[in-house]
Amino acid sequence: MTEPILRIRGLHKRFGDHDVLRGIDLDVQPGDRVAILGASGSGKSTLLRCLNFMEMPTAGRLEFQGRPIGKAASDGAVRYTQAELAQVRRQVGMVFQQFNLFPHMTVLGNVMEAPVTVRGLPVAAAREKALHELDKVGMAHKADAYPGHLSGGQQQRVAIARALAMEPEVLLFDEPTSSLDPELVGEVLTVIRDLAQEGRTMLLVTHELGFAYHYASKVLFLADGAFYETGTPDEVLKNPRKAQTQRFLERFT
Ligand code: ADP
Ligand code: MG
Repeated sequence: MTEPILRIRGLHKRFGDHDVLRGIDLDVQPGDRVAILGASGSGKSTLLRCLNFMEMPTAGRLEFQGRPIGKAASDGAVRYTQAELAQVRRQVGMVFQQFNLFPHMTVLGNVMEAPVTVRGLPVAAAREKALHELDKVGMAHKADAYPGHLSGGQQQRVAIARALAMEPEVLLFDEPTSSLDPELVGEVLTVIRDLAQEGRTMLLVTHELGFAYHYASKVLFLADGAFYETGTPDEVLKNPRKAQTQRFLERFT
């Protein structure tokens, strides 16, 4: 068994008195393509955001490539150094439902920004890297355009290139096609499919069940703050054993 790239144990996240995540355990192996399903409000985004520390977990342990992140203090709370959080955030890339491109920067500027400011790449190298990643998502020809002049599908492909430019070990996709017009979904799924076929490690929150069925290595159904049913795409999507999973899937078929 290879070492998991990401090991999650007992992850909890509470907002006030709302216990959103109540004990998440997961091992993500290199090359895993993990599809995460769940009803609106079940905590899918919160889970992804805890994995790159955009949200701080309330409790639980995360290991990245065998290294524990943070140290448990004597009171049991986990303390993190800024340096280790910065490192995890660099290695765990995120693509959002709303793209979140910087509107005042060109496409090229968006993709070069973090490699220059966070990784410290020289501008010429960052530019070359950005053009390479834009080419991969079929957007190099729009390098000088501003996000406001692009379709949603094009913006999302740029956002994927922006994540790739940081050379992350793990990619997190949070409903990357949910805000797109139906005719634009395919071009974004094609890019994600290509990344999956390259062997990238990814966690994908999605309602695209057909895509999850064909390209995920594991499917996880999140309910009541934990993974309620997990397995292969066949197990979870075609032969769910539990009633709540069955009811959820019925809404999409
Ligand atoms: P999903 O992505 O599955 O729709 P979310 O992770 O966005 O669900 O949200 C899960 C629950 O946590 C929701 O009830 C939401 O209102 C709540 N929540 C999410 N983020 C915050 C926050 N920053 N402050 C308070 N409550 C939040
Ligand atoms: Mg969400």
